[in-house]
Amino acid sequence: MTVPFLDLEAHHRAHRDVFHQVLESVMTSSGFIGGRALEAFEDEWAAFCGTAAAVGVANGTDAIELVLEGLGIGPGDEVIIPANTFVATAEAVVRVGAAPVFCDVDPATLLVSAETVEAALGPRVAAVIVVHLFGQAADMTALGSLAERHGLHLIEDAAQAHGAVWDGRRVGSFGRAATFSFYPGKNLGALGDGGAVTTDDLALAGRIRELANHGRAAQSHFGHVVVGRNSRLDALQAGFLSIKLRGLDTANAARRSNHEIYRDRLPPTARQVEVDQRSVAVHHLEVIRSDRRDDLQRALSDAGIGTGIHYPVPCHLMAPYADYRRTPLPECESAATEILSLPMYPELAASDIDRVADAVDAAVGQLAPSS
Ligand SMILES: *Cc1c(COP(=O)(O)O)cnc(C)c1O
Repeated sequence: MTVPFLDLEAHHRAHRDVFHQVLESVMTSSGFIGGRALEAFEDEWAAFCGTAAAVGVANGTDAIELVLEGLGIGPGDEVIIPANTFVATAEAVVRVGAAPVFCDVDPATLLVSAETVEAALGPRVAAVIVVHLFGQAADMTALGSLAERHGLHLIEDAAQAHGAVWDGRRVGSFGRAATFSFYPGKNLGALGDGGAVTTDDLALAGRIRELANHGRAAQSHFGHVVVGRNSRLDALQAGFLSIKLRGLDTANAARRSNHEIYRDRLPPTARQVEVDQRSVAVHHLEVIRSDRRDDLQRALSDAGIGTGIHYPVPCHLMAPYADYRRTPLPECESAATEILSLPMYPELAASDIDRVADAVDAAVGQLAPSS
């Protein structure tokens, strides 16, 4: 592969020795579950996001499920979510017994907006989950006032947007609660699965802690006060995450600089998804649109360039979610046929971006215009 889609080995190279120290220290203490490493990371993550609390959980999907459960959302409730998200957003809603109402997105940013959410409103809607897709912050000003006007819980799925900023504030600090994934390929990734909830609501944080730890009351081992489950962030992953968090802003800045190099080098026929001027994006993915997407992807693959599609099928068109399909969602549906994710990671060299841009240029030049 000339330019891989993602290079986690390069991303972790500088941290290897410190990762070994974390392993030694956790082994020595035998504090594998809970304890100081977890508490330290939770405090650091809350401080980074600008919230009163962060709760480490097993993964980003559980984080969404636990927030919904913690807010008492379940059977009889509806939750508005964009159709162009990773399936986990929809999965969590169905798992708590609520029904997803899929909404469309803004054609320029491919993010949910107050307008697209408004079009999906109904009497049973209890919450909206805003997805900051591709590392780009949605318009939390307009979405916040819409949620307030209609008495809806506003939840952020920030699994792709660690550190992204809307109007001077980091995502994860806007809604009732926000959810993060630390899946290895995310902007802040563990060496395995991990996730977190951030919130200013300490009572909600406490309920989520209980639910995620077998329904245990705080500080109690056998005081099971609710029917809970096991969804914890373990100490080893928390220790790795604390180390990687120190480099997150720098890594995100490198992604932004890569995005700008792409913008300068890509041919005009390969349109980048727009970033709202009021936001600072963290470019989890570098997404372009082309009406010859499949041919372009094939040509790039032949040139040794790794690409992805995020996501090829919008959730409302997936078989398991057919019962929740209501209306066509034209922006999500057309985007799904046009989007292509190019290589994007902090360690990507400018010379690699040149190679990708040249290959895109050569490919679109050779592709006959679509009819
Ligand atoms: C990755 C992701 C999730 C799920 O996170 P996991 O840790 O893999 O469970 C949820 N929502 C979005 C938008 C994601 O990208």
